[in-house]
Amino acid sequence: MRCPFCGELESQVKDSRPSEDGAAIRRRRHCPECGGRFTTFERVQLRELTILKRSGRRAPFDREKLVRSISIATRKRPVDPDRVDRMVNAIVRQLESMGETELASNVVGEMVMKALKALDDVAYVRYASVYRDFRQTEDFARFLSDEGLAEEGNSDDDELPAGPGA
Ligand SMILES: [Zn+2]
Repeated sequence: MRCPFCGELESQVKDSRPSEDGAAIRRRRHCPECGGRFTTFERVQLRELTILKRSGRRAPFDREKLVRSISIATRKRPVDPDRVDRMVNAIVRQLESMGETELASNVVGEMVMKALKALDDVAYVRYASVYRDFRQTEDFARFLSDEGLAEEGNSDDDELPAGPGA
């Protein structure tokens, strides 16, 4: 593996251990040329996936990009990073086992939305707002209301909920 710091082609593996519940092998590497240290991950890849974007462009499926978009959605949320890792692994496995080498980006988007919904409401809404490209507050409000996530009690003052003991 080429050293990302100096470009030296031969880096040395210092340590190699299972990671992500055995779904990956984590290798710590050392560059003999510049002394740089970096980590690589080895994962099973069942097939090469191509993503067909809404623009009509094609791009190779990028796991790291998926991880980044999910970590942005879950930022500062009480979500265990291990759960996020497992979620990403599950999504990738599911994508790879769909039997298609080319997938529309919305297939991936919907899968992430579904997984985030089970994980954290706020992360779900954040991801949806980017993915569905909300441009106005009404888009948000409609989405929250459709999803049953809207705050209650601000619609009609006359309809006060029954108090305790009523
Ligand atoms: Zn180096």
